[in-house]
Amino acid sequence: MPQPTSALVLFSAGQDSATCLAWALERFARVETIGFDYGQRHAIELEQRPIVLARLAAHSLIWAPRLGADALVDVRGYGQLIESALTREMPIEAAPSGLPNTFVPGRNLVFLTIAAAHAHARGLDVLVGGMCETDFSGYPDCRRKTLDALQIALALGMERPMPITTPLMRLTKAQTWELAHACGGDALVELIRVHTHTCYEGVRGQLHAWGHGCGLCPACKLRAEGWRAYAGG
Ligand code: ZN
Repeated sequence: MPQPTSALVLFSAGQDSATCLAWALERFARVETIGFDYGQRHAIELEQRPIVLARLAAHSLIWAPRLGADALVDVRGYGQLIESALTREMPIEAAPSGLPNTFVPGRNLVFLTIAAAHAHARGLDVLVGGMCETDFSGYPDCRRKTLDALQIALALGMERPMPITTPLMRLTKAQTWELAHACGGDALVELIRVHTHTCYEGVRGQLHAWGHGCGLCPACKLRAEGWRAYAGG
């Protein structure tokens, strides 16, 4: 396969996917984004999408012309099938399976398959996602092994290569901040800190050192710990 020149980034307006998008904008001549409305309990991440996209384009004269169309796909029918603390009003806790009940079964499989179809239609070379094995949530569809298998199925099913690139796969949350810094310096770190959204409870409110959020849910705790390890204090 010739060197890829274009990418489709799965972008949710969170810290991880915003960092992946910056990483892709550094590398590819053409970058498009895709996101999903799966009936998540809080619309806040959907509201932050255009804000983060506009600010990333404004961040760099090199990135601005590279950043192309954004697609927001309605998969609420899929979301209605799912019993998860991200799609239903229920307390966040461990499920009997041992996984947190924030797990949305099949989510990355569904999202990446739709993204692959979109990349095929748009003539984009690779998929980029912020999946990470080291963030301890233990979601099985974030593991590289799962994505390797899916990548093979997609290539067979579409008769063209569809690599799934995961720049954060082996990084800690502190290293993800370091990667953002390597891509765009302090200004990018500040953009991600202030404008991305990670909190499971959909809280923005007060700006903490690590960003907005309730500070109590697992996603906020992980983000806050990562920030402390990166910034110190
Ligand atoms: Zn939170």
